[in-house]
Amino acid sequence: MASEPRACGNLEGLVRRLRLRLADAGRAGLAAVPRITVAAAHPAPTNGACRASAAAESAQPAPASASPSLAPELRAAETLREELAMAAKQHPEEGQDFFDFGAPDLEGGVNRDEALRRIAAEVAECTLCKELASTRTQTVPGQGDPQARLAFVGEGPGEEEDRQGLAFVGRAGQLLTKMIESIGLTRDQVFICNILKCRPPGNRNPMPDEIANCLPYLMRQLEILRPKIICALGNAAAQTLLQTHDGITRLRGRFHPWRGTLLMPTFHPAYVLRNYTTDTRKKVYEDLLQVQAELAKR
Ligand code: URA
Repeated sequence: MASEPRACGNLEGLVRRLRLRLADAGRAGLAAVPRITVAAAHPAPTNGACRASAAAESAQPAPASASPSLAPELRAAETLREELAMAAKQHPEEGQDFFDFGAPDLEGGVNRDEALRRIAAEVAECTLCKELASTRTQTVPGQGDPQARLAFVGEGPGEEEDRQGLAFVGRAGQLLTKMIESIGLTRDQVFICNILKCRPPGNRNPMPDEIANCLPYLMRQLEILRPKIICALGNAAAQTLLQTHDGITRLRGRFHPWRGTLLMPTFHPAYVLRNYTTDTRKKVYEDLLQVQAELAKR
């Protein structure tokens, strides 16, 4: 899954172009040249991501006095800076450590509940994946406790989810409910969502470009929730979040550090339903017991 590197490249390119424009403006002798400081004051990203969004935030606005008679260089720089700010807004997770975003409960100055609602509203309008947008009944942003300490991430909505607009409400969802209850929690106490917010037609596997389009919504949700533990259900969720091609059989059964939190991959409930053996059910239960034990410590 290559969405982050591609988007980082865009942001980095914008930063570079912005710096060149500003240097041009300076050389042209414009007195009020806006300043851009590229991320020097920001801690090194822990996940190898670029720092372009941090740089975007650091770009200083041009002084008002310079605006009426802006030279072309400075005007171009301003346009670029706006583009950069917009790009950084669309990919707020890039270049930042997971928990390095200031006020813990806020996104844009609103509480978690409202911040999650706003993402759901954005998702409802999303048309980035033309096929999914034209075939869905409705979007399925995910639901649950905004203060949840545990979040489950599945692959994408199925038929029933598409009908109800809620994640994991079909047969796999009923098994997920049992899994949650097996560790002493209820669905209301956790957050349940998916990598994709729209149903792929015929429940086909998500395409890489669909995952890339949709992932920023999930990343923002997780950034707002900051769950103690994320449980990735199945290959698509585990591979996407861990950025690996390793399969779920290899990944499950142990915690993976993930942006300052812990991620436990386990089998998808739909897979369990298809392979309803003692061995599979026991493995999932063991994974969940590890989650329960870890939650008790945190
Ligand atoms: N499968 C998923 O991955 N997610 C759902 O919401 C339902 C089924």
